[in-house]
Amino acid sequence: MAERAGPERTCVGCRRKGPKGSLLRVVASPDGELVPDPRASTPGRGAYVHGRSECVELAIEKASFARQLRASIGRDATVRLRDRMRSMGAL
Ligand SMILES: [Zn+2]
Repeated sequence: MAERAGPERTCVGCRRKGPKGSLLRVVASPDGELVPDPRASTPGRGAYVHGRSECVELAIEKASFARQLRASIGRDATVRLRDRMRSMGAL
């Protein structure tokens, strides 16, 4: 209860909590794509994931982004997010 760490977020992959800054924020675009939002500048619901392949793979397997974002997010969109995170150097 007496933790002094700032706001915590839960990773959609491993379900572990971490300080906001240790997780990458991801938002859903209107066309059902997952968009990394590293600066947390996009309003609306966000999902958070660790920059680790295991976490993204788990999120793909469990369709966690769709659930967290309450949006229609296909598996393909999550795979594309993984590729995008790789090219950003976030994985
Ligand atoms: Zn994780």
